[in-house]
Amino acid sequence: MSDVKVPLAGVIGHPIGHSKSPVLHGYWLETLGLSGHYVPLDVAPDDLEQVLATLPRAGFRGVNVTLPHKEAALALADHVSETAARIGSANTFTFRPDGSLEADSTDGFGFMQNIKAAHPDWQASDGPAVVYGAGGACRAIIDALLQEDVPEIRLTNRTKSRATALAAQFGSRVSVVEWESTAGIVEEAATIINTTSLGMAGSGGFDRPLDGLRPGALATDLVYTPLDTPFLKAVQTHGAKTVDGLGMLLWQGIPGFQKWFGGDPQVTSALRNRMLA
Ligand code: NAP
Repeated sequence: MSDVKVPLAGVIGHPIGHSKSPVLHGYWLETLGLSGHYVPLDVAPDDLEQVLATLPRAGFRGVNVTLPHKEAALALADHVSETAARIGSANTFTFRPDGSLEADSTDGFGFMQNIKAAHPDWQASDGPAVVYGAGGACRAIIDALLQEDVPEIRLTNRTKSRATALAAQFGSRVSVVEWESTAGIVEEAATIINTTSLGMAGSGGFDRPLDGLRPGALATDLVYTPLDTPFLKAVQTHGAKTVDGLGMLLWQGIPGFQKWFGGDPQVTSALRNRMLA
């Protein structure tokens, strides 16, 4: 019998049944012909620290961490990437051979790669960006846009205080616009992004005015159920180029997969179809 350990990784959340990460990583393991397993782990908040300390001894190379553990897990990390430190949360954890824990955030990478793969000519520096929403996912988006030299971000959120707190964290390139006063906000925008959950199956549709949106602006939605969201349908009537949100979920998985299992995972239409099946 071989004593070489099969590499393990997984996703920790509470609950975890809805996570699509096991399908994503399972697909890459299967199609790349790599040895390994990726499993869902339902871990209550009180157990997080002990589980993270134990997993490497059971052969785990790393884990993705999702709600409600993103901030708590970061506080337990021994090494924090610059990105995770800037946004104050992490989703990708790697156990180093010396037993220490490394934290990274790959949502911003996933967000950027998803747009660039669909529209290679687009650059964040093309002009102002409009961002709807100021929830947990939004921080990584704002950070990624700023890192790619966006000149200005116009941020608007139903609960203004959340947008104001985010803007204060990111500095003078981010300004806050009242949710009820967003007429004209999209004028001159090169990029517009919905980071709210509006448009998710079962929630309300996107209802902000889009007058003045210029044809050729780039629009993307973090919501991917349905793929063709009310926001994307609305911007298409103004001639915007669109990218759906599923690709962000797929691209954000690549850095962790490479660290834990190796190989060269790709985002392909076959993978998209597997995720949608
Ligand atoms: P969150 O922290 O709960 O934030 C939700 C955001 O939506 C807040 O800005 C909230 O505004 C806004 N919102 C909710 N209901 C609204 C309504 N009726 N009218 C106006 N605004 C409303 O959620 P999150 O983690 O940021 O996630 C946001 C969305 O992104 C979710 O649909 C999630 O599935 C998706 N997501 C996708 C990816 C991907 O890879 N594609 C990754 C992460 C997240 P208030 O502050 O006023 O409540």
